Amino acid sequence: MNSYDGELIRGSFAQAGYREETNPEAADVVLFHTCSVREHAEERVHSLLGALKKTKRERPDVVLGVVGCMADRESEELFEREPHVDLVCGSRHFPKLPDLVNQVIAGDRRVLVVGESSRAVDSPVRDLSGYLGGHSAQVAIMRGCDLNCSFCIVPSVRGRVESRPIPEILDECRRLVDRGSTEISLLGQTIDSYGVDLSEGGAKPQLARLMDELAAVEGLKRIRLITLHPAYCNDELISALARSPQFMRFLPIPLQSGSDSVLKRMKRGYSVDSYRKRIHALKEKMPDLELVSDWIVGFPGETDEDFEASVAAMKEFGFLQSYVFQYSPRPGTPSTQLSDNVPSHLKGERNRILLDLQSQIARERTSAQVGKDGTLMLELRPEKNPGCWRGKLQTGHSALLQDPDGLLRPGLSVPVHIQDWKGKELLVRSKLELSELLRIQAEIPKWSPEPSILEV
Ligand code: SF4
Repeated sequence: MNSYDGELIRGSFAQAGYREETNPEAADVVLFHTCSVREHAEERVHSLLGALKKTKRERPDVVLGVVGCMADRESEELFEREPHVDLVCGSRHFPKLPDLVNQVIAGDRRVLVVGESSRAVDSPVRDLSGYLGGHSAQVAIMRGCDLNCSFCIVPSVRGRVESRPIPEILDECRRLVDRGSTEISLLGQTIDSYGVDLSEGGAKPQLARLMDELAAVEGLKRIRLITLHPAYCNDELISALARSPQFMRFLPIPLQSGSDSVLKRMKRGYSVDSYRKRIHALKEKMPDLELVSDWIVGFPGETDEDFEASVAAMKEFGFLQSYVFQYSPRPGTPSTQLSDNVPSHLKGERNRILLDLQSQIARERTSAQVGKDGTLMLELRPEKNPGCWRGKLQTGHSALLQDPDGLLRPGLSVPVHIQDWKGKELLVRSKLELSELLRIQAEIPKWSPEPSILEV
């Protein structure tokens, strides 16, 4: 989401006539686009801000700003801790950033804009002038989260759900595809809650309907969804995903813990059994679906039995990928009221056990793909293996395809047969002749930026 928001910010400055300067020492405006999910990231921003004190002393006209979640969370405290900062702008106010910078340039001191906004962040439709292009694009379809997991800072910094209307999303996706994108990741904190805040003639637009409408976008080969919440994943959505010709069969649907008592203290809003039922419903309609989960180990009160339940759940659901975090309390979240009573060495050990288990499961799932057919989306030519393309299969598995003469381009979808596997990667061969692949490739537009960037 932050990388997508970075594109919105780039676009707004490109439109306002700014040029990008990647060296902070040489730039006239330096903005830190921040994340608050983990404390470590915030501390790094403070240390980078500290390193710019000298620049600000030598060139007082330089505008120094902090934007995004950290601006929302720390708000005016940021000015106290970092007196050389001129601008603090929260994540619902990105489109105003060039105006806010101009306000500072005009002489205003300590410009602060945080919290909810009456103007939608992406409205009316994202300007692509700051978008660097490429076959794989991102589109935020909603902002915020209406849930309140006890460990999470997101609801308090990103606000409640604000969904974008379907026509606006379709328009943005079509414009990206017209410029050469073949894969789009739809983004939302709890993407399956899309539409809860909207009403169109009495009916709520839902992710299921959006997926159906996106099926008509010619040239869009693949749609990724990031991230689902198990409680919102209903039968209607599951049917829509199963009939979508573009849905990538690779779903982040975080379980977080295999213990019901921990899930309750996390306020996740589901039990392991209700999660199981959702996964069964998904796999019944899409047996090839691969799953991704996040996990927190060492949550307050997590016993050995609770942790063993997480180990058992990881084995049972057979995730292809897992992101494992050791619990640490975030100020401002409800879980800080609970005693952080799992010793750090135990958190570290549980972290390692889950990661080792995940690697073993991933190896098994990868090797089980050998002999199957799939569709590979080309991404890049690996530096160590320049005669090949690396890409992702429709199921999210990473794979290598030979292209010794470098005739293919990223974004091409290649029907393949999976021949072998090595480490975490599958080795595949094309089921189509090269001439046929080149014919299909010729129909994909080469990336061209929107006119406004040329004017800049
Ligand atoms: S669902 Fe829970 S973890 Fe995810 S953003 Fe919302 S509050 Fe945070």
